[in-house]
Amino acid sequence: MNTASSLKTAGIYLHIPFCRQACVYCNFHFSTSLKSKDDVLHAMLREIEMQRNYLGGAAIETIYFGGGTPSLLSADEINRLFDAIYKIYPVVDLKECTMEANPDDLSKQYLHALQSTPVSRFSIGVQSFHDTDLLYMKRAHNAQEADYAIKAAQDAGFDNLSIDLIYGTPGLSDTAWKQNLSKVRELGIPHFSAYALTVEDKTALHNAIKNKKATPVDPEQAAGQFEILEQQADAMGYEHYEISNLALPGRYAIHNTNYWRGMPYLGIGPSAHSFDGKSRRWNVANNALYAKNILQEGKLLYEEEILTPIQHLNEYVMTSLRTMWGCDLGHIAHNWDDTTATEVEKNSHIFQEKKWITQTEKKLIVTEAGKLFADRIASEMFLSESE
Ligand code: SF4
Repeated sequence: MNTASSLKTAGIYLHIPFCRQACVYCNFHFSTSLKSKDDVLHAMLREIEMQRNYLGGAAIETIYFGGGTPSLLSADEINRLFDAIYKIYPVVDLKECTMEANPDDLSKQYLHALQSTPVSRFSIGVQSFHDTDLLYMKRAHNAQEADYAIKAAQDAGFDNLSIDLIYGTPGLSDTAWKQNLSKVRELGIPHFSAYALTVEDKTALHNAIKNKKATPVDPEQAAGQFEILEQQADAMGYEHYEISNLALPGRYAIHNTNYWRGMPYLGIGPSAHSFDGKSRRWNVANNALYAKNILQEGKLLYEEEILTPIQHLNEYVMTSLRTMWGCDLGHIAHNWDDTTATEVEKNSHIFQEKKWITQTEKKLIVTEAGKLFADRIASEMFLSESE
């Protein structure tokens, strides 16, 4: 494999592990106590220096602030993180700098302050334009605030917007879901992500459903609303370029697309993941431990997994089949070998017969009918270490 040796450009992800309140379905790493915010930020500034060699001098093409809730940081705090990155890493031609933001944070004053930062794109956690949904999810904002935040961002000159939407919530009728989708187009938003509500273990939603305090989620409703998503997005001119991501032509998320293409990235902050082309690392998912180890001992706490060529291949199959560009057998032959490409092609035959995958030249592409099962298809096509 020569993926690592062709390393030229990369992305940086910064995880801001704080939220104003806990959404019931969330299993990301965050704390609702802001007590350790200054320490974590100091530690992140130190980590940016400590990781200076991780990307081997690759030019930084994208920067992404995720969380948690990055919009809890002031513009000054964001600029300090940028300054540290710009001082150490070659940021030659920054193509995209995204910040996840919650609607209740995007006031006119805050947006004005952010104009002094390199942030060029927002991913806004709208989830729904209906208050009943937002209440079920225990989001901190209401529908009106979501609307206001989008318009305020556009008025402040931030046109490169993405919003997150969630379908499959028990109170979301098909009509209400269609209205949410129409709103994306009406508001002139070039990109959106749509996720089915999933009930993860150890979340408040999981407990509430178990204790009969919340309505359970119906997978059939989610499947029906995924079909609505496919049809309506297409009618509105959005390309369903990744299972959970849709964009007007050419307005794809660059940072995420690079990630799906297997490009390296460095993750900074508690729980952040990194990938250098050969191995994956993930920082300790504990704010106090993360900050204490860096600030007091000069030590970064992380776990690491060196990928075998087959693990790397399976990751490529999984991520590429989720995209409209598909799984490229030529890429596999080039980066692994011809036999491996033939094995992957062979494993796709059963799904080609079901019309869940089409093959054009050397590309395997999941069909509309197969999209709902993309992850299952990919995992059934995985090669095992002995093959
Ligand atoms: S704001 Fe985002 S990260 Fe924070 S709890 Fe809600 S879903 Fe999770």
